Formats: sequence, structure tokens, C-alpha cells
Amino acid sequence: MAASGSGSIMWFRKGLRIHDNPALEYASKGSDFVYPVFVIDPHYMETDPKAFSPGSKLAGLNRIRFLLESLVDLDTSLKKLGSRLLISKGEPGQVLIQCLKEWGVKKLCFEHDTDPYYQALDIKVKEYTSAAGIEVFSPVSHTLFNPADIIQRNGGKPPLTYQSFLKLAGQPSWLSSPLLTSISSLPPVGDVGSCEISEVPTIKDLGYGDIEQEWTPFRGGESEALKRLKESVSDKNWVANFEKPKGNPSLFVKPATTVLSPYLKFGCLSSRYFYQCLQDVYKNVQKHTSPPVSLAGQLLWRDFFYTVAFGTPNFDRMKGNKLCKQIPWNDDDELLAAWREARTGYPWIDAIMVQLRTWGWMHHLARHSVACFLTRGDLFLHWERGRDVFERLLIDSDWAINNGNWLWLSCSSFFYQYNRIYSPISFGKKYDPNGNYIRHFLPVLKDMPKEYIYEPWTAPPGIQRKAKCIIGRDYPKPVVYHDSASKECKRKLAEAYALKPKIEWPAEPRRFG
Ligand code: FAD
Repeated sequence: MAASGSGSIMWFRKGLRIHDNPALEYASKGSDFVYPVFVIDPHYMETDPKAFSPGSKLAGLNRIRFLLESLVDLDTSLKKLGSRLLISKGEPGQVLIQCLKEWGVKKLCFEHDTDPYYQALDIKVKEYTSAAGIEVFSPVSHTLFNPADIIQRNGGKPPLTYQSFLKLAGQPSWLSSPLLTSISSLPPVGDVGSCEISEVPTIKDLGYGDIEQEWTPFRGGESEALKRLKESVSDKNWVANFEKPKGNPSLFVKPATTVLSPYLKFGCLSSRYFYQCLQDVYKNVQKHTSPPVSLAGQLLWRDFFYTVAFGTPNFDRMKGNKLCKQIPWNDDDELLAAWREARTGYPWIDAIMVQLRTWGWMHHLARHSVACFLTRGDLFLHWERGRDVFERLLIDSDWAINNGNWLWLSCSSFFYQYNRIYSPISFGKKYDPNGNYIRHFLPVLKDMPKEYIYEPWTAPPGIQRKAKCIIGRDYPKPVVYHDSASKECKRKLAEAYALKPKIEWPAEPRRFG
């Protein structure tokens, strides 16, 4: 056994940051030693050769690399504070219990996580700690509010509209006192004994070999997150006038929104610190936008989905999910593959799917376009299939937000105006008549005249030859015709809605704690 007495473990999972990290702060208080641990979880990181894109069973390589970059950055910051990151590999529950035994610590600190995977893991670890008399400190710091508190305030049920969520939530309690944004030093790391500890691995160390792929332009880590945040909030006018959904989804050189989502996902950026910075801007301008459209309003959408997801059994599926309309979606592997592989024949849709695969990030309205197209707009395929593709390829893939938005876009929950469909032709054209976004992500269409760039199958043969893009050979014909396909989708949704399944809640409210 290594150092004992006043040692503690800081278990990093998300929350990959130093600023506003109450678990790290508590771990270092009164401790002679702090062991900052991150466990490489095979469930998330191990290569899966059968998956449709390079990566593990659950995550594409862009996101895995983003995570590794975030860990390197965290390790660098910890070293500056007199500590370092201890990387271990294996099933996280088992690894943690082994570390707790080996190091004889008295405190285990980690950020509370509402995702089902972590909820199950935490039960297992807490069973051990309570039997072993180890103190656990697991604060809520990934979201602005504690989802369990909001649900309790609402009589055991999650609020189902954004406005009712806002009413219940009120102002965050922490807003009146400044958040701890820096630490001057940390206690040293104790002796690690026989626990197998390594440096942060590279993609190659994880067994991915030399991968040839276009990587996301966004680099992981707290340093990059704080830099991006600073750039965003320094433009006070932009922050004050931010109004979603008014942004332009086709801007890619300088996107129309912050692109802070991947940093919030891994907790490289604290949403509370982001919110506090926005309040500082609002205080110093005469007029600013408000929720739901403001930038602070976007963070509240995030909390809204976290709360509903936490309080809804089977939130990530149609069956057994009381919030979800029961819709007889079609099952068609070929159409799904055409959508996933950017082969629908609709350049606006395909360009977005290429941006997803190469960047792992797209603008919110671009996500709307492809999600609507896959489900209620054109293909009538199950939202869970689209969710899976996003879950794998997005660098900001987030269980609560992704499922919540797929439920929304497919008119399965939250939003029910199924007659309002995004046209795969005119919607993108409105923002980008020349098709620059399409030309960038689908270079096969780069010489197509702007008159045909959104509907290249209508270009006369001579124009196709001149553009060096023959439709049906160099770029696909449309997989469905939008006018007829969307009419059929609306008809099927009207039928499904007519059945009017009621939202029912369990007789006994769930207990949260
Ligand atoms: P900004 O506009 O700058 O907003 C700031 C932050 O607010 C975001 O980083 C995000 O944390 C939060 N936010 C913004 N919009 C939403 C929203 N609609 N719901 C919840 N939180 C929001 N976002 C994810 O973070 N992870 C996902 O897996 C995800 N999946 C989505 C799937 C679909 C089908 C759709 C339509 C949207 C999805 N979104 C997801 C929501 C949204 O598109 C992204 O959060 C946003 O585009 C990220 O870019 P940004 O950081 O520049 O956003």
C-alpha cells in the first residue's frame, strides 16, 4: 500500500478542466496527496473494425482524438500545478476500486454525471466506497442546474417545455458568488504502487495504426476552450445580438455560432463559467437578446434537455418512452447508407453529411436539415438510426442533447408541426445562393453553375459535361423526389398522430438523489 491518511483520488471522466472544478478543489483540500486519474475505457476507446467509420464501437476517431488532446492539455496544466494526470486502462469501476485499495485514500472526488452509463458505474463504485468507509464527493458542475432538483421541484416529473423549465429553474444559485477559475498549486501525487499507470496514449498507441483521414479543424482541451470562449465574448455586440435560429448554417470559414459544444461535451469548458461570462457582457450593454434565442438561452436549452433526459425512462428510444410519439418508421438499410455516406443526390444534404464525417461538427440548422430529411421530411427512417450516426461522428456528441434534438426534429416529441418541412433544395439556397458550402465539402460539384448546384440532376447534359460532373456517374441522382416523398411523409405522420397516445407517468414519482 502507498501513501495513506489524507490522500484523495480525483477521478476525471468529463470535467476535463482546472477552472470551476469543485471536485478537484475538494480533492486537494486538506489532502497530503492527490491522485488525478483518468481511465481509458475499452467500451469507448477500443478499435472496432466492424464499425462504418474508423473508431471504436461508440465513437469515431475524430472524437477519440479530441479526447486525447484534451487529456494532454489537462496533464500539461496539472504539471504546472505540481501534479500530473495518471492514465490507467480497463473497466473503469474495476480500475478505480483497485486504485482505492492500493493507495489507501480516504476521499474519492468526481463530477456527477447524469448519463445512464455513468449512473450505473457510479452505483458500483459507491457500493465499494461505502463498505470501505471512503468519503465520496460528487458535485453537479457539468450543467447550470442540478436536473434532480428541478425534477423534484416539479413533483417528480421533468418539465416538458422550455418555458416551464425556465420558471422552475430561476437564477442559478452559484451566480451570486464568483466561481473559482484558477488554482495556484495542487498537492503532489502519492506513490502509485503496483497500479499500472501510463502517459496519455496516442491514437496509434490505442491500436489505430496510421490513419489517413481528414481531421476536424477543432483541437481538444481546456486551453483551446478558454481561447475560443474569450474570442466569442470579446465581441460584445455579437453576443448581445445573438439570435438563434437566425444564423447562417452555410458559413464554415468562420461559423455563425461559437463551436464551444465539443468543449462543453467533455467539460473542457464549464457551462457555468460560460454563462457567467455572458452575464458579464449583458450587464455592460444597453440591450441584449433573451432566452430562448440568446446565447445564454442556448445553454439553458442544454440544461433543459439534460433535465428531461434524466427524468425520462428510455429517453433514448421510441419503445417504452412516454414522451415519444409511436411512429411506424420504415427500415431501409440502403437509404440509410445513402444518407450516412453523403449519396442522397441532394447536394445540400450530402455536403452537411461530409462536414459531419470530416469535421464532426455542423451548424444547428444544418443538423436540422439532415435530421428532417432522414425522418419526417423525405426518407421516413427511424430517428434512432440517425441518432446513432450522429452519436458516433459528432465531436460534441452528447447523450441528452443528441437524443433530445432527434426527438424534436423527427416530430416525435417537443415539436409537432410535421407540415413544416425543410426543403433540401431551397433552404440552403436562401443562405448561400452560389453554393460555396457545397463546393467546399463536395468538390465533385465545384464547377457546377450556381443555377444547378442545388439540383444538379436538372442540368442539361452539356452543362454536366462542362462541369465535369455527370449525374448518375460522378454524383448520384436523387434517392427520392422531395415533392412526392415529403407528401407521403406528412400523410403517414398525420395517421400516426391521429392515434393520439397519451403521455402517462409512473404512479409513483421516481426518486432522485
Ligand atoms: P452555440 O449556438 O454557440 O450555443 C452554445 C451552446 O449551447 C452549445 O455549445 C450547446 O452546448 C448549447 N446548445 C445550442 N443549441 C442547443 C440545442 N438545440 N440543444 C441543446 N443545447 C444547445 N448539441 C450537442 O452539444 N451535442 C449533440 O450531440 C447534439 N446533437 C444534435 C442533434 C440534432 C439532430 C440537432 C438538430 C442538434 C443537435 N445538437 C447537439 C444541438 C446543437 O446543434 C449544437 O449544440 C450546436 O450546433 C453546437 O454549436 P455551437 O457550440 O456553436 O452552439
